Amino acid sequence: MSAWTTLEPGVRVRTSRCQDMNSLVLTADDHALLVDPGVLPSELDDLAAAVSETAPRFERVALAFTHPHWDHVLGMPWFPGALTFAHSGFADELEREAASVAHAAECWVTEQGERLPHAFRPFAPRLTAHGTAAVRLGPFSVVTYDTPGHNGNHLALWLPERGILAAGDLLSDIEIPWLDSPPWVYRGSLKTLHWLFEQEDVRVVVPGHGPLAHGRTTGYRRLLRDMDYLLHLEAGVSRAFQAGLDLEDTRKQLARMEYVGKDAAHAMNDVHAENVRFAYEALADSTAPGRS
Ligand SMILES: [Zn+2]
Repeated sequence: MSAWTTLEPGVRVRTSRCQDMNSLVLTADDHALLVDPGVLPSELDDLAAAVSETAPRFERVALAFTHPHWDHVLGMPWFPGALTFAHSGFADELEREAASVAHAAECWVTEQGERLPHAFRPFAPRLTAHGTAAVRLGPFSVVTYDTPGHNGNHLALWLPERGILAAGDLLSDIEIPWLDSPPWVYRGSLKTLHWLFEQEDVRVVVPGHGPLAHGRTTGYRRLLRDMDYLLHLEAGVSRAFQAGLDLEDTRKQLARMEYVGKDAAHAMNDVHAENVRFAYEALADSTAPGRS
């Protein structure tokens, strides 16, 4: 199966062998926009070659990064001179997490039988935004949406001219909501995207990982499914907490829940167990003595 999917002329998605990570590639005239170029060196060679067919000068290439996790940030050295764009908090986090990003990249790339041609270096995007902002990247219009919950510096990117939502690590068909904070933070982001689905003509959702969602209904369903997962997670944890269960017993009980990626090859079981911890600790925190 080809790693490339063509959505329409000048709009393609390349899917990595690594966790089915998607890189969105738009080309127009002699410009290009890439969202999350990655992951493996051979794949970045392929992306750079494809882009250089229409945008041979990388100064006319923009790279947008949805969030500073290792699998989304390795592409920059393949596009020297390109404009870089991400959330305002991206650079600080990448700097802070540089060692663990480098370590994760090294492990995954080696496991796939490849080698990074250069050590990972944190970088500061030339252009940043936060909140809901309209941005012009070369000839491409982008509207940003703050979407924390998986990562505090996460942007979903809406491309109104193409009807494409580059959702970053949200709305995947192979991953559950992968929390880095209390579940209601993530639910707030789904509410934001809910408004986007209501107000805009979302024709394709390009998630960070796994199959694309074609048509508004398909994308919308993923959002409702993820909301449903979070509500069940919170309700289950809350019941266990009120019954006096500790975290380990709560995890055992919540392991019975059904969810996307349970026992799958790209298994979500550990992610779910961590999600239980985030929900449990948030609850314990909010009911601790001294809190009103
Ligand atoms: Zn991520």
